[in-house]
Amino acid sequence: MNNEFEKIDKIKVDALEEILGKKFPVLDDGFVRVVDYMGSDDSIVQAARVSYGKGTKKVNEDRGLIRYLLRNRHTTPFEMCEIKLHVRVPMDAWRQWIRHRTANINEYSTRYSLAIEASQKTDPNEWRMQSKDNKQGSEGFFPFELGSKLSERELELQNFAREIYQERLDFGVAREQARKDLPLSTYTEAYWKVDLHNLLHFLELRMHHHAQFEIRSYALAIGKEILARWCPVTWEAFQDYRTNSLELSSMEVQLLKLIAAQKNEEAKALADQFGWLKKTDGVLKAHRERNEFESKLSVLEIKAPWM
Ligand SMILES: Cc1cc2nc3c(=O)[nH]c(=O)nc-3n(C[C@H](O)[C@H](O)[C@H](O)COP(=O)(O)OP(=O)(O)OC[C@H]3O[C@@H](n4cnc5c(N)ncnc54)[C@H](O)[C@@H]3O)c2cc1C
Repeated sequence: MNNEFEKIDKIKVDALEEILGKKFPVLDDGFVRVVDYMGSDDSIVQAARVSYGKGTKKVNEDRGLIRYLLRNRHTTPFEMCEIKLHVRVPMDAWRQWIRHRTANINEYSTRYSLAIEASQKTDPNEWRMQSKDNKQGSEGFFPFELGSKLSERELELQNFAREIYQERLDFGVAREQARKDLPLSTYTEAYWKVDLHNLLHFLELRMHHHAQFEIRSYALAIGKEILARWCPVTWEAFQDYRTNSLELSSMEVQLLKLIAAQKNEEAKALADQFGWLKKTDGVLKAHRERNEFESKLSVLEIKAPWM
């Protein structure tokens, strides 16, 4: 047995060291900042090389290896890196955030301390209209005049809720009960520690345009300001193989083959067979899967044969 001591230097990432503790602003009063981290792009390579064994470096270039691992959904090497963030988030966005069970969390306690005296405020030109096609989404903005009214009412509500909260505290009501009517716009703070594999999963879901604007703003800040500095090769690969890539279902592949062969009538017949081209009064009915395929075609700058 070889008992020789092999000194291992702790991995440091200069670009991340420079911003440790720096608050990246999100929304009107939120932020994300890095408290601590472990590992880097190099740790992923280091771990992967252990699994391949010395001398079996088929994919021997570091960048190529990381890209290969991400492309082929090898997960455990990415779990070797961890990051601890301090975040300040409105409670409604936090409620979505906290659904990601694979992180370690410690949140500010409004039983123990006074609720943070800040609520997320919406600018008059930021009120979004309900989407007609997507029940979970929004599209377009209200005109400034109506937006101003909505913002005014928002402020009244937030001030009133805060006033009642303070009144209860002044009467000596326990903080744990006094807080019950604070609005979801109230900011909370937490330490959020996650490994890189699960962070990428979080970012994939929450940077997506289907995610709500508020949590997407946090995900984008984490991706662009933090991950891009911490693990630049992984961040680049993540964008190439996850966020900017296209996944095709078997139906979409069949249709795309026909479109590429300029067999548009056959493509239409097949889409109809899939039940994608149902009409009411001669107008195509919205169909989620067809709409998703149309979005993919527009990325490829191809017009759907039925449009
Ligand atoms: C656009 C969007 C809309 C959403 N709408 C809704 C909604 O209407 N209602 C709602 O309730 N939620 C909704 N969610 C939340 C969503 O269903 C997930 O709860 C959330 O995104 C966390 O994802 P996750 O479970 O993959 O992440 P994590 O909890 O971080 O888990 C990561 C992965 O670990 C594995 N895992 C973790 N825990 C377990 C477990 N106990 N058992 C088995 N595998 C596990 C799974 O593979 C999982 O994908 C929505 C999310 C998005 C992005």
